[in-house]
Amino acid sequence: MRRPRLAVLALIAAMLPANPAPTLAQAPVELTAAEKRAVLLAAYPEALSAEAGSDIVFKDGTRLPFDDGRGAKDFDMLLAEPDIEDMFAIRYPRGPAGAPPALNADPGRIRNEAFFKKMYGDCTKGEVARNLADVVWLPKRSGAKVRVTRINGVAERLAAASRELDALPDRFAKYLVPVAGTYNCRPIAGTTRVSAHGYGVAIDIAIGHAHYWRWAKAGSAYAYRNEVPAEIVAIFEKHGFIWGGKWYHYDTMHFEYRPEILAAGR
Ligand SMILES: [Zn+2]
Repeated sequence: MRRPRLAVLALIAAMLPANPAPTLAQAPVELTAAEKRAVLLAAYPEALSAEAGSDIVFKDGTRLPFDDGRGAKDFDMLLAEPDIEDMFAIRYPRGPAGAPPALNADPGRIRNEAFFKKMYGDCTKGEVARNLADVVWLPKRSGAKVRVTRINGVAERLAAASRELDALPDRFAKYLVPVAGTYNCRPIAGTTRVSAHGYGVAIDIAIGHAHYWRWAKAGSAYAYRNEVPAEIVAIFEKHGFIWGGKWYHYDTMHFEYRPEILAAGR
């Protein structure tokens, strides 16, 4: 059964970070390609222009293909050579984390590099650094300055999240201070792909309380571990940041600005 198109678009509008989190119980309906494009446009209104045909069009006229026409890809290919549509291949579970993520359920780890480099720049050429802005991390509890991009309002959104995190009760402070890091022009460990930190859209927290799949013993599956409280995750999600603790290849200190992944979530 397909949900009527208008209802889906209304749902998408309600899920964007400026609005309160939806309370609607949803069936896991797959989004159509047109709906995914609509999600992307609504998530990045400063960067993207109205869709034209099958391409994603930027405000300066640059066009990138939404679908590379290569059909279904296995998990390794989704990570290594995704098109823009492939970024929506795995749906993000909004709200409190339930069971540990299923095998290879990594919503948001699939990033089309051309799309991110067009929006935020290529950090190896100094293009990302020139758009970085200071954000005061937890003004009352820390006051440290962290640097993220101002593009797409990321710095403002992180500042808003930071103020809300600062207002949490004292028992949360140990997960938030000190902050672990934001902008860093580096590849993802074990790959040649640029990390989300290289686009200035990511922040790591909870030094000393973090768990990472690469630190786990690989057996038949990586044993999921997490200490980061749901209250912290909820504040980041409210402001458009997804959490690496909802990945099978978990990275529980990691948050990154991905409003399209949240809006297309379930
Ligand atoms: Zn990180």
